[in-house]
Amino acid sequence: MNPIADKIAKLKARIQWGNEMGYYFYLQPVKNLDGARILVKGNEMLIFASYSYLGLLGHPKINAATQAAVAEYGTGTHGVRILAGSIKLHQELEGKIAAFKGTEDAIVFSSGYVTNLATVSTLVGRGDVVICDKLNHASIVDGCILSRARFVRCAHNDMADLERCLTEADPAAGKLVVADAVFSMDGDIINLPEMHRLCKKYGATLMVDEAHSLGVLGKTGHGIEEHFGMTHAIDIKMGTMSKAIPSVGGYIAADKDTIMYLKHVARAFVFSAALPPPAAAAAKAAFEVIEEEPERVSRLQRNVRLFIGGLKARGFDTLQSETAIVPIICGRDEKTLMMCKLAQQKGLFVLPVLSPAVPPGTSRIRAAVTAAHSEDDINRALDILEAAGKAVRVIRRAPRAVVKPGKGSAQPLTSGPM
Ligand code: PMP
Repeated sequence: MNPIADKIAKLKARIQWGNEMGYYFYLQPVKNLDGARILVKGNEMLIFASYSYLGLLGHPKINAATQAAVAEYGTGTHGVRILAGSIKLHQELEGKIAAFKGTEDAIVFSSGYVTNLATVSTLVGRGDVVICDKLNHASIVDGCILSRARFVRCAHNDMADLERCLTEADPAAGKLVVADAVFSMDGDIINLPEMHRLCKKYGATLMVDEAHSLGVLGKTGHGIEEHFGMTHAIDIKMGTMSKAIPSVGGYIAADKDTIMYLKHVARAFVFSAALPPPAAAAAKAAFEVIEEEPERVSRLQRNVRLFIGGLKARGFDTLQSETAIVPIICGRDEKTLMMCKLAQQKGLFVLPVLSPAVPPGTSRIRAAVTAAHSEDDINRALDILEAAGKAVRVIRRAPRAVVKPGKGSAQPLTSGPM
């Protein structure tokens, strides 16, 4: 028996079962990604699974910048940045990111995943300690493993546990604390003020991944520091350019010495090709558009309140989410799959997240709301989810009674700054 062939066969059997049951929703080719509706096998569906949080895909200014970059530079850069692969556009993009995030400098990598992998494994190594929230994204976890530093995981968003981890660390060791700003499965927000205080107290460097907070948190979408009314609370500000920013790539914004260090030592920068010019141009234009069109951020934040409020009023458990990522807890994997199937049959494109990606018993639909949704879109999605939730007994009828008759269904229940 070949163990490699065996694990491939196991997955194949699971996918076959999913296909036969109508439960396999992954890797479906979709068209028309630039709004609230997509085409799947020729059918129009309302999508609540897009991370284009501000609806910027297809924005005319961003498209035009991309075309101009192709005309000027072509489609690639023939090599790594540190040798002959750096173009003016890379520097302009890094300057724009640094200004947007309020830091001295920035560096871009070819994906968000690679940014975390490279940064964590460059900043810490043998003899250091890296402390990671239990629910951090896989790219951070992989960076921690690659680094060979002592890898400590603390309880999710639990500042007493973070303090315990910090006090247990060797005082002489380099200490890096890493967390998602908004957690990618649960949609809740890290307690930045307390995390910042603890890092200062114990001499740790703080790195925060803003994949799901850039464009989403803060009155003008500048992210988690704006959300909490703080400046310079984070030493290493990481973000992706594949979600609110409709491109690809990842960045670190930080002080100029740290960026200089990453540009000369991070293996994914030194040994891997530069971001292609069209991707860099799209990203740079998108950072500008976020500042030029702040109404997109307010619309997104209104939509988040309507969607989460509407789900709660219908009796759904959405954990502690206050952001555009909204987990709809279904419980067992089968219930989640059945609910997704029913929703998709009614024209709502949502996707399941099953165990072991999330703890058993917390399988969920991981919905995402964007600025491209209208209030009608949100109400339609809520109605479809309600019918599906009742059919598979994720919710009962009773909680609906809390909604005042004639007042519509979407009740904003979230509070505090977004
Ligand atoms: N960090 C977080 C929190 C993410 O959710 C993701 C993407 N799922 C990444 C990093 C990786 O970003 P990218 O997809 O741009 O590689």
